[in-house]
Amino acid sequence: MPELPEVETIRTRLAPRLEGRELVRVDILDPRLTRPHDLFEVAEALEGDRIATVERHGKYLLLRLASGRGLLVHLRMTGSFGFAPVSHERAVLELDDGTRLAYRDVRRFGTWLVLEDAELEPYLAVKNGPEPLGPRFTTAWLAGQLARRRAPLKAVLLDQRVVAGLGNIYADEALWLARLNPERPASTVEPGEARQLVRAIRAALRRGIARQGSTLSDYRTPDGEAGAMQEEFRVYGRAGLPCPRCRTPIAKTRVGGRGTWYCPRCQPLRVA
Ligand SMILES: [Zn+2]
Repeated sequence: MPELPEVETIRTRLAPRLEGRELVRVDILDPRLTRPHDLFEVAEALEGDRIATVERHGKYLLLRLASGRGLLVHLRMTGSFGFAPVSHERAVLELDDGTRLAYRDVRRFGTWLVLEDAELEPYLAVKNGPEPLGPRFTTAWLAGQLARRRAPLKAVLLDQRVVAGLGNIYADEALWLARLNPERPASTVEPGEARQLVRAIRAALRRGIARQGSTLSDYRTPDGEAGAMQEEFRVYGRAGLPCPRCRTPIAKTRVGGRGTWYCPRCQPLRVA
């Protein structure tokens, strides 16, 4: 599933080709993409409008239009954009310079939602907490959120209202960097550990962005390239392989239903 680094990579590739261009034709080919809204009504609301900016908010891509409306795209499991024709096309955008941008989605969990100007910020404010690479994501914020929760630390980190854009891969990588056990009750994390965790989350995400995301199966940039972050995972997907820090074999467990990898020696489960 695309997380912040993957969506940010897509955004940086789309922005220069889309910003300032008019949407001359919008073909939505899968009613599931826009439900409960009618796909023809959504297409009609977009056609003739101009793309002002391409933004990322957590895991959402936002095409903000000149009219003030926004097309909010969530890629979910397997959504992606491509400038070349691909299989499993669910929608196609045609721009006034002849650019054709296809939206692909094999498993069809992705969503397209058109919101009016006044609806956008309230909608995003409910879905997303602070951006982890922005100034609002502070030690005080994270420590405050963790202190209120008895759930396993990793499960709390996957709540988009706590950290926008963090998902399964980068949560495991960040917890390893911070030497914190993913199953520890969130409320037992001390302020000093929360500070380390803020740094670790930022470091893991920045590294992912620098490698243009991680390609495990479907993710590609809009130019069809694979990411390279998967070659640099320290723990994610590495059960039985040596920890890069202490050589102890990496362990796998499940936290909140999600496959979770960690080093039993660097990330011991301390019960406070
Ligand atoms: Zn280790």
